[in-house]
Amino acid sequence: MEVQSAINDTCCDLPSHVECDGPRFGPDMFGDRLAGIIAPFDQPDPTERMFLPPFLEQALSPLTDDLSDEQSVQFEVADIFRFYGEAYRACHNLTIEQLKVMDAIEKCRTAAYGFHADVCDTCGHTESAYCSCRNRHCPKCQGIAKHRWVNARVDELLPVDYQHATITLPGELSVLSLHNQKLIYDLLFDSASQTLLTFGHDEKWLGAQIGFYGLLHTWGQTLWAHVHLHLVVTAGGLTEDGKWVEPKYKGWFLFPVTALSKVFRGKFIQGLKKAYYADELILPDNMGIDNATAFEMWVDQLVARNWVVHSKPPFAGPEEVVRYIGRYTHRVAISNHRILSIEDGQILFTYKDNKEKDKDKLWKEMTLSADEFITRFLWHVLPKGYHRIRHYGFLNNGQKHANLALIREILGCLVPSTDSAEAAADNEEIGRACPKCENGHMRTFLVTDGFGQILKCDISVFQTHPTENYDDTS
Ligand SMILES: [Zn+2]
Ligand SMILES: [Zn+2]
Repeated sequence: MEVQSAINDTCCDLPSHVECDGPRFGPDMFGDRLAGIIAPFDQPDPTERMFLPPFLEQALSPLTDDLSDEQSVQFEVADIFRFYGEAYRACHNLTIEQLKVMDAIEKCRTAAYGFHADVCDTCGHTESAYCSCRNRHCPKCQGIAKHRWVNARVDELLPVDYQHATITLPGELSVLSLHNQKLIYDLLFDSASQTLLTFGHDEKWLGAQIGFYGLLHTWGQTLWAHVHLHLVVTAGGLTEDGKWVEPKYKGWFLFPVTALSKVFRGKFIQGLKKAYYADELILPDNMGIDNATAFEMWVDQLVARNWVVHSKPPFAGPEEVVRYIGRYTHRVAISNHRILSIEDGQILFTYKDNKEKDKDKLWKEMTLSADEFITRFLWHVLPKGYHRIRHYGFLNNGQKHANLALIREILGCLVPSTDSAEAAADNEEIGRACPKCENGHMRTFLVTDGFGQILKCDISVFQTHPTENYDDTS
């Protein structure tokens, strides 16, 4: 009853969307703090500093979203948290990580994170925006991290074929995985990587060390737990005596997936049993596996389930690999553009039904209560510091650079002349291109925190580049 009235309180005046939400302050909300914001500018007496230089006035007025890939969206996960988060937290026990994620998403690009003001180093055009939360679970904050990661991977691409496989845990493991995230996810990474490396070293298939990335996704289209790894694997490997070998059956997946699936299952179950008997598994009450006999019976059933190892058609070329990697690496459980409405405690969103045979009907709609939606979203918050992207074989972080140099030498290909990761870092340093003149770069000259305190203030850019907006002779 209490919960219901709290929910009603939160949403009573809300139409179906965001216009009247509280935390998205307009620029006028900076109000009294402006005196503090401009403090480091050139006036000696803080009490006299009540005007704004024209460039800053303009910079503070339009608040634009410029840091993400997201198209403009009408509804956001952030809105769901703002409307229903408080009531949700009042009746669910959340981990510190989950609370932090909710808080970050709710406040992302609102006054709570402060703002930054940028100026073009060529034409003097100014813009400002609220700062982003940069949380890796925030649907709005994946753009920058993704670009950085993809750029670094581009430099590692070899002129060889790459293949894509997925390894999925049976649905029966979903509940257990929610209670034992780190253990189950680690076991998935370990079992899958050992399986692939073993097959690679087997003379029957390749007789060499392959290189690959594993990307962990824990969700399916309807936010339900669907724990799987995406694997991007080089079709070929490095032998111990320093040769590059091509796969025996080019055009097919490197290894037979049915055999892979069996070996993977064996390794996973062995690890699961080890953890059980070492009392490392947290056992959910309703699973009924708290004694060894029940556990063994449950595991026997598990063995009979589908342990899907799926290989997808080989990538057409390095470019496609990069596009693919970019699409999958920095995803969150649901992107904002899939949310269609938020109304009366119900969330309507689209999902892709992979079982649908009619291609025109692939996208469907689903409604979940806000409570259920938040629960499912939070299932996919990873433990603190958990690495969801891992590198294996000759791409293993320790020896990656030496191995790539060696393989390039063997294959007689040139080392890429421009290091795109470095170039990307330089670009970040230089700033994004100016949307107005398209020649200059936007440089951040002012950053504040949520309390209006200045974290960075650099007006040198105005001194070296006279601007259209700022007449420093007055
Ligand atoms: Zn964010
Ligand atoms: Zn410009």
